[in-house]
Amino acid sequence: MSDTFQNNNREAENLAKELKRKGIRDERVLAAIAKVPRHSFIDESLRELAYIDKPLPIEKGQTISQPYTVAYQTELLKLQPGEKVLEIGTGSGYQAAILCEMGAEVYSIERYHELHLTSKKALNKLGYYPKLFFGDGFEGLPEYAPFDKILVTAAPDEIPEKLLRQLRIGGWMVVPVGGRMGQKMTVIKRVSEEKFSESEYGDFIFVPMQKGTEE
Ligand code: SAH
Repeated sequence: MSDTFQNNNREAENLAKELKRKGIRDERVLAAIAKVPRHSFIDESLRELAYIDKPLPIEKGQTISQPYTVAYQTELLKLQPGEKVLEIGTGSGYQAAILCEMGAEVYSIERYHELHLTSKKALNKLGYYPKLFFGDGFEGLPEYAPFDKILVTAAPDEIPEKLLRQLRIGGWMVVPVGGRMGQKMTVIKRVSEEKFSESEYGDFIFVPMQKGTEE
């Protein structure tokens, strides 16, 4: 193993330790954070900021979420290995890598074609092969439903109804709901065919979930 790789690893390990201090408890989430090289998902010019607990800009005015937010959302998923997860907003691909690292079967949708392509490249280079789709996340992937868990990484104003229908009974969706001023992290569980239960967690700020696709 080269020195560079070990150094990168140490940076990711330190980031995991920081997130633990900030309250993340799920050891499997922390292990994934300690392993996935976040710098592989951002522009070379931002390399020095890769392991700081901050969101960073990516192409198309979007962001790679803050590591704490990635860990927080992933913790709420309570993933079991092999579970089928749908992510809305592939973005940089970092969150998808964390889900793959934890042994999930990952499906992820991105509405910008360019981000769809660059995230795929970054993920495959590291040996992660989630199923990536260019499309509108509001539609979900009905042909691949039901999903055990759905993770939305952009903020809709209201709970996306079509996605709820793509959850298995007993499965749940983690979604930051609210307008541009801030969102409530919300977990919606599908209790039965028609019944859903909702609980709210902390306040976050995500980029807005937008309808349609763009090149
Ligand atoms: N999970 C990403 C976070 C990226 S920010 C990461 O780890 O980097 C949220 C992403 O959601 C952006 O890339 C944005 O383009 C995308 N997005 C917003 N609305 C969407 C929609 N309707 N369907 C799919 N992706 C969407």
